[in-house]
Formats: sequence, C-alpha cells, structure tokens
Amino acid sequence: MMAEEQGLSKNRSENTGGEFGAGFRLGVIGAGTMGSGIALAALFAGLEVVLQDPYPDALEKARDYMVKFLDRKGLGDHIEQVMMTNSLEDMGGCRVVIEAALEDLDLKQEIFRKLEAICGPETVLATNTSTLSVTAIAAGMQDPGRAAGMHFFNPASVMPLVEVVRGAESSDATVETVVALAEKLGKTPVRAADTPGFIVNRVARPFYGESLRLLGEGVASFKDIDRSLRDGAGFRMGPFELMDLIGIDINTEAMRSMYMQTYGEPRYRPHPLQIQKLAAGTLGRKTGRGFYDYSAGGSSKAAGTEGEHTAEQGPAAGVPGRAVLVYDGFWNHGTGDLIAGAGYRLEAYPETFDGLAAVVFLDAFSGRTAADLERLGDALPADVPVFIQCLDTTLEGALPSVPNTNRYVGFDPLFLPAGAVATLVAGPDLSPSVRERAQDFVRDLGREPVWIDDAPGLVIPRVVGMLVNEAAFAVQEGVADPETIDLAMKLGLNYPHGPLEWGLALGWRRVLAVLEHLQSEYGEDRYRPCRLLRRWARAEARAERIAALNRAGG
Ligand code: NAD
Repeated sequence: MMAEEQGLSKNRSENTGGEFGAGFRLGVIGAGTMGSGIALAALFAGLEVVLQDPYPDALEKARDYMVKFLDRKGLGDHIEQVMMTNSLEDMGGCRVVIEAALEDLDLKQEIFRKLEAICGPETVLATNTSTLSVTAIAAGMQDPGRAAGMHFFNPASVMPLVEVVRGAESSDATVETVVALAEKLGKTPVRAADTPGFIVNRVARPFYGESLRLLGEGVASFKDIDRSLRDGAGFRMGPFELMDLIGIDINTEAMRSMYMQTYGEPRYRPHPLQIQKLAAGTLGRKTGRGFYDYSAGGSSKAAGTEGEHTAEQGPAAGVPGRAVLVYDGFWNHGTGDLIAGAGYRLEAYPETFDGLAAVVFLDAFSGRTAADLERLGDALPADVPVFIQCLDTTLEGALPSVPNTNRYVGFDPLFLPAGAVATLVAGPDLSPSVRERAQDFVRDLGREPVWIDDAPGLVIPRVVGMLVNEAAFAVQEGVADPETIDLAMKLGLNYPHGPLEWGLALGWRRVLAVLEHLQSEYGEDRYRPCRLLRRWARAEARAERIAALNRAGG
C-alpha cells in the first residue's frame, strides 16, 4: 500500500512536541534485521509505521518476518499499520524517522540530507548506527540539531535498551523526543555521549579482546574460557559462544572501527585470531562454524560444555573436623567463609599437620608469605596442597625461593566464593597426588576445577578487571555516569552485574592490583589502570582507615 492510498499527508505539522498520539507516524529507513525489528517494536506500541528500503526483496523479507512474528503473538492484523515503500519521499508525513540502513557513513549522510528536504522542519531524524559518529552523520545537514542517535539492540523488538546519543549539534528538543519515543516503544533509554562505541559496544570490548588474547597465548581453551566466564562469573554466554552468535565479522568490524576512531587505543586492537577466522570464512553460527562447529546441528552450548560438571552438589558430607590453614589477608573476599561453610576448621597455626586438607594463602604476596612457605615446606606432609592466590603474582613469581615446588597450586580467590568454578594453576612439577587432593578440596567447596596455564590475572579477574577499567574510562571521558553505564550493560548484554557496581563489590584496590600486575607483566599500555579507578581505590582505603580508627576509638 502506498502513501497516498493510506491518505498520508506530508509535513504533518500537528505532530509536534514529542507526542505519539493519533496521527503520529514513525519512519524507518532500511528493512533489514534492525529496521524490521524496530518496526515491530513500533507496532507493538500501537504506532503507524512507514518502512522504506530501495530493494523490493528486502521489503518482502521484512514483511514475511514481521507477519510471522506478529502471528505468533496473535497480532497478525497489526501488519496493516505498516506501509512498505521503496521511496524515501514517503517519509514526508513522519514526525520521527529512524535510519537503520547499511553501516556506511556516506550513505547515511546522503539519507539524512535527503530526509531534511523531504520532511518538515519539526521532524526528528535518528540514526541506529553502532559504530559511526552521530555528529559526522549529521554534518552535511542544514540543521544538524534535528539529528541524534537511537541505538537499538538486536533483536530490536525484544531487547529493552536504547542508547540515546547526543551528537555535538543535537538540540535538547531532539534528544527529548528520542528519549520519549524510546519510552513509548516500551524501552529503557539511556543517554550517551557521541563517542566511539557509545556505552555498551565500548565497555564490552575487553570481554572479547582479553578472551582472544588468553586463547592466543594458550592460557586456556576457548571452551574453558567460556565455561569460566559463564559458570564462574555469571555471564549468560561465554565470549566465544557470543562472538559466534553475533558473527565474527561484525564483532571484528566493531573492534577495528573503535581502534581506528581512537587512533590506535591498544585496548581495542583486533586480534590476529579474529582476522584468521575472517580469512577462513568461518564467521560463527551463520556459516555453520566459528569457534564452535554447528554443522551437526548442535548448539554451541552442547559443544562448549563437554565434560562439564554442574558443580551443584555442594560441600561433601562428613568433612568437619579436617583442618585447613588459611592465611587471611587482602584477597580474602569470602574465601574463608566458603571454606568454613563447607565444614572445615580454619586455623592460623595448627598444632599438628595431621589430617590437614589444604593450606590456603590469601595474603598479598610478600616477604612474609615467602618465608612462611619455606617454613611450611619442611613441616607439611608431602601431599597437602598449598593454594596461593595468583592475582598480583603469577604462581611462578610467588615461588622464587621455595625449594620443593611440587605441592603448590595457584588459584583465584576473587571469584571462587561466588562462582561454580575454581580456577587452578599447576606449577611445572605439581605432583599427581597433590593435584588430585587439590581437586577434591575445591569439589568439597562445591566448585568444579578448571586448570589453566600460569598467566597474569588468570581468566575471570583479567576479563572482569578490564571491563571495570573500561567502564571507569567511559565515566572519566564523560560518556555516561556510573549508574547509566551499569544499567546499559545489564539491559543491553544481560551482564550479571554492572561493571562499576561489580568493581565496588570486589574492592577497587583488588581490581587495581590485578590491572597493575597485568601492566607490569606485559609492559603494555593496554593494561594501564584508569586514573578514576586509582582515585576510587584511594577513597576506599581512606574510608577503611577511618572506619578502623572509629572502631579503635569506640
Ligand atoms: P542489514 O544488512 O540487515 O539491513 C540493512 C538494510 O538497509 C538492508 O535491507 C538494505 O537493503 C537496506 N539499504 C541498503 N541501502 C539502502 C538505502 N540507500 N536506503 C535505505 N535502505 C538501504 O543491517 P542491520 O543489521 O539491520 O543494520 C542496520 C544498521 O543498524 C547499521 O547501521 C548497523 O550498524 C546498525 N545496528 C545493527 C545491529 C545488529 O546487531 N545487526 C545492532 C544495532 C545497530
């Protein structure tokens, strides 16, 4: 049905002021994945939609997709509310137009220039660009104040988040109209500055980038990295499953675009493994193979959980009475409680080592720890595992003066208490019996062991630490405030926690210690901690000192 048949008039000046009542029409440019999803969201909200695409095939496909979706919801007749057109002229009667054409700056600039001539001066023009600058897209317009970003997430009909991006010239009225429209569509709008990747695509970069580096360095298999981040940190999908779902080409392009736009910020540097996948044409689910193989019709979940243990059995019965020696300290973030909760008795200096299940060091690595290790080395029974936190040290770095290294196991105390996995690092000459006993011990705690290579920051603290750092950089650079960033990451990508509330809960000084260790081990700017993170860490230390003084005084 074309515009004139539907009685659509151009330049409907009565639709002003961000009202979405009778007569309001939403224009959507581009009938691809996002355009058809946005049109659906508008239909659910009871709006009339004009959906434009120059390619008849694209329009037909979009119509089929929308009809199927609407039918499933018993809303089949809503399709009548959409006018499909191949002519941009039909946007004339729309109060807001959302552009979701191809990700190409020249194309988007041209569309915006044309729309400006077609639509009345009150029409707000929004772009759904993921990686381009909203300011640049609006640059060729007579009045760039009418343009803003309206970034939806795929599938747009379902995902609750919209990033509202203020370009350098966007007017307040334009931004408010876009915010109100997002709400009308049943979405949660978050306001973001016009910076590369906005909030979500930027803050999420380390989830992929660090995981690719861990794989490239042979620290762990991609399945174990996925398993750790899923079961150990609560992400809904692991980074490799997610890259396969998004498409390795799309994900790499987002990385490359951010790297270029920031003149080579090392945190965003694409990884050669991605480039290799592009060269091989194994782009993820859509090609039947990416990191996982989907050719047998299996899901990545099935492929990725091979040999997986659900770790739901909880502590083994009958363990109380067995002692474990815990050196309390900086890295005790619930580990002591976890061990005690499993029925172990915590002792600082037991009278006898008989029946001792494990020794667990939670202190920051220090001369005292090294001396203690040496002292214990002579007295401990040979097969008692000694767990050493490996967050501000590698295992190798923690054992420089220990003569007998075959009983030491590195571990991650930061994520052990909350997750279902225990990340473990074996020294080069770990004895098989100690290895067994170390596994038994963490299984008694209800955690499934994941053995990885000795690497700075291990897997989860490295990835989560870098997410926290990236979010802090985003706050520092004025992209959005902390609450907005946390909300965006939870709604846009289903993160289990916002990165900044996570950093606060883990302790800024612990996150900082992981980053400083990464930076010193790799010697790379990529791991430099954000200045704001250092400030928060100092404030945390100060608050703790004052609380301690008050306790002492009281
Ligand atoms: P897509 O390839 O599925 O759809 C693009 C559509 O634009 C196609 O139907 C194509 O025919 C049409 N098109 C081509 N030239 C056009 C023109 N001159 N005028 C109007 N339409 C034209 O792409 P997509 O995934 O829907 O992405 C569209 C936009 O949304 C891009 O800017 C992308 O960055 C952004 N985006 C994508 C996602 C995602 O996950 N796919 C998420 C958020 C934002």
